[in-house]
Amino acid sequence: MSNRARIDAVQKAASRSIRTFPRPMDAQGRPVRVSVMFGSRTFNAERMRERLSPDVYARWAETMEHGRKLDRPVADAIAHAVKEWALEEGVSHFCHWFHPMTGSTAEKHDAFLWFDRDGRPIEKFTGSMLLQSEPDASSFPSGGMRSTFEARGYTAWDPTSPMFIMDSPNGRTLCIPSAFLGYHGQALDEKAPLLRSMDALSASATRLLAALGEPAHHRITVTVGPEQEYFLIDRAYAGLRADLVIAGRSLQGARAPKGQMLEDHYFGSIPVRVQAFMEEVELELYQLGVSAKTRHNEVAPCQFELAPIFCEANLAADHNQLVMQTLRRVALRHDFLLLLHEKPFAFVNGSGKHINWSMSDTRGDNLLDPGKDPQQNLRFLTFLAATLLGVYRHAAILRASIASHGNDFRLGANEAPPAIISVFLGDFLTRICDGIAAGDVSTLDPGKAMIELGISRLPSIAKDNTDRNRTSPFAFTGNKFEFRAVGSSASISFPTTCLNAAVADAIDQIGAWISAAGGGPAAVLAAVRRALQESAPVRFDGNGYGAEWVIEAERRGLPHARNTPAALAALATANAAALFERHGILSHEELHSRFEVRVEQYNKKVEIEADVLREMVDTLVLPVGLAELAEAQAQVDLGPAAVRRFRELQARIEALDTARQALDAAAGKVGEGNEAERAASYCANVVPALLTLRETCDGIEAMVTDSRWPLPRYREMLFLS
Ligand code: ADP
Ligand code: MG
Repeated sequence: MSNRARIDAVQKAASRSIRTFPRPMDAQGRPVRVSVMFGSRTFNAERMRERLSPDVYARWAETMEHGRKLDRPVADAIAHAVKEWALEEGVSHFCHWFHPMTGSTAEKHDAFLWFDRDGRPIEKFTGSMLLQSEPDASSFPSGGMRSTFEARGYTAWDPTSPMFIMDSPNGRTLCIPSAFLGYHGQALDEKAPLLRSMDALSASATRLLAALGEPAHHRITVTVGPEQEYFLIDRAYAGLRADLVIAGRSLQGARAPKGQMLEDHYFGSIPVRVQAFMEEVELELYQLGVSAKTRHNEVAPCQFELAPIFCEANLAADHNQLVMQTLRRVALRHDFLLLLHEKPFAFVNGSGKHINWSMSDTRGDNLLDPGKDPQQNLRFLTFLAATLLGVYRHAAILRASIASHGNDFRLGANEAPPAIISVFLGDFLTRICDGIAAGDVSTLDPGKAMIELGISRLPSIAKDNTDRNRTSPFAFTGNKFEFRAVGSSASISFPTTCLNAAVADAIDQIGAWISAAGGGPAAVLAAVRRALQESAPVRFDGNGYGAEWVIEAERRGLPHARNTPAALAALATANAAALFERHGILSHEELHSRFEVRVEQYNKKVEIEADVLREMVDTLVLPVGLAELAEAQAQVDLGPAAVRRFRELQARIEALDTARQALDAAAGKVGEGNEAERAASYCANVVPALLTLRETCDGIEAMVTDSRWPLPRYREMLFLS
C-alpha cells in the first residue's frame, strides 16, 4: 500500500500546461467579435428569415407569437431549410434533444442518410422528422405513468427554442429542442410543464393587467436568468476518487489547513488555467446563442460562477442545460473534472443556482420594475403583492421544487438559504408594504394614497435599497426576484414551473378580489392590501442563518421541511394537485409521477453513496489503517509517544469499524416498503450513518503516514496551482 498514485496525481496537476485553442478569425486575421459569432451554430430567427420564403417565415412567426401548432407544409419548408443549412455546416446527424425527468438531457441521433427510389444514398429530413420522434420511453423514469399507459412516448419540437449544432471532435449533430410526451399527451419531461406554466402565468397576468386598465397585452413573458456555480478540480484526482466520479461529491476527506477562512477567493483574480477554460466555454456558448455574460470566482476555493443575460424561461432552461453540458465537455479538454454537485466538499461552501425571475409585458417592459408614474407603480405593487401571496400560499411546493439529496447538505447550513421559504424585500419596500397593509386604503383616493405612501417615489430608491442579503432564499433585487435556494446541479425547469404556478394562482386570487369589489383603482389597492396582509408572515429581512429565525418562522406558521423526503411530501397533497390542475400545468397523475421520480432518485442517490463509501472503507481506508496500526504496534518500544500513537490509532480504527457496521445496520433497516417510506428511513438512518463513517475515515486520514495515504487530500484537490 503506497501513496504513489496520489503523489503522481499531485505532480501531474501541478505541471499542467495551459490549453490554448484556435479562436475564430475574420478575413483580416482579427478575432471574430462576439456579436458576430453569437448564435452562429443556431437556426435562429435571423437565419430563418434568410432561408425561408417570406410566406413561410410569416407563418412561422405568427405561430410563435400566438403559440399555435405548426402546420405540415410550414414544417416541411423549415425542415428543408434547416437541412440545407446543416449540410453546409458539415452536419451529418440530427437528434431530438429533450429533458426527461432525470433532470439532465437526453438525445437519440439519426443520420440524415437515406436512399432514393433508385437506391442511391441521399440526405433526407422532412417536416414529420422535425416535428416528432419516438425514442424508447421505457428507459426513462415515468414515475408510474408507464403502468397505466403504453410504454411508448414521443418527442415533439419546441419551435420557440432554436435548433442548434452540437460539435464533437469528429463530427457535428443538429439538435432539435423538444418536449417529451406519452402517447396520451402526458408530460414525461421537464419542459412540457414549464411551457404550460408560462402559458398559465401569461393568461392570468394578461387578465389582471386588463383589470388594471391595460387591456392591450396579449402575452406576458416569464423572464429568467440563472446564475450557475460550479467547482473545478484537476482531472488527475478523478481516477483515484470513486466518490467524486460516481457520487459527484467527496464522501471522505480530512479538513484542509486552509479552507475559505481567509476569504481570498471570492471575486479574486481568476487562476490563468481556469480563465483559459472559461474563455473556451464562452466561445462555445456564444456560438450556441447562449449569452454568457459574467464570470467570477466564488466563495470556496476552486469554485466559480457563470451567469447569462436573462431570457424567456423555457429558453433559459434549455440554455442552462447547455451551460452545464458545455462546462463538463470543455473541462475535460482542460484536464479538469467539473463538479456541479451542491456540496462536493465538506467544510467549504456548496454551490447553488440562483434563478432570477420576473415577467415582462407585450412591449417588453418588466412588470416588477417600479415605474415612473402612479399607474405604473400601482401595476408594480400589484404584481409584487401577487408574487408575495403566491410564495406565501405555496411555500411548501416551492420548497419541494428545490429538494434533492445534494441540496440537503447546503440548505440551512450557514452558507446557503435556510430550508424555510421567506421573501426579502429591503427596507424601503417593506415600509411601503407595511404602510399599505396597515392603512385603510379603501377610504383614500388611490392617487392620493400613492402619494401619501410615498409610492410615486419608488423607482430610484427601490433599486438602491435592495441590498445583498445572501441569507434569503427568495429576494427582491431591484426589478426581479432571485430564487436562491435552487441547487447547482438541478434543472431550473421544475422550480420555475412551481413558481409560475404559485404566482399565476395568486394573480387570479387578486383578480377575483378586484372584480368582487367592482373594479377600479380603489378596488385594486384594496386587493393589494389584502394580499400584503395575508402574506405578511413570509416577509423576512433578517438573518436567515440565525437559529432565532427557525423559531420565529415556526411561530409565524411557515413550513419548514428540513430534508428532501419531508419536503417532497408537499407534492403529494391535495393542495398541490389542485394548484397544478387548476392552471392546466400538471394533471394529478403527472404531478404524482414527479413526486415518485424525485423520491426514487433520492433513495438511489443515498444507496449509491452508501455503496461507494463502503467500498472505499473496505478496500482503502481500513487496510491502510490496519497496516499503519501494525507498524505503530511494532514501534511501541520507542517510548510513550509511540504508545500513545498506537492506542489512538487503535481507538480510531475501532470507531471506523463500529461506524462501518452501523451503516450496514442502517441500510438493513430500510426494508421493502414503498419508496416514500424508504426515503424517510434513508434520511433518518443511512444519511447520518454515512456522516459518522465519514468522520471516522477523516480521523484515520489525519493519522496515517503521508507516504501511505492513497486518496487525494482536500488540500491537494482544492487548491489549483
Ligand atoms: P447578482 O448581483 O445577483 O449577481 P446580476 O446583476 O449579476 O446580479 O444579475 C443576475 C442575473 O439576473 C443575470 O442573469 C441577469 O440577466 C438577471 N436578470 C436581470 N434582470 C432580470 C429580469 N428582469 N428577469 C430575469 N432575470 C433578470
Ligand atoms: Mg445573484
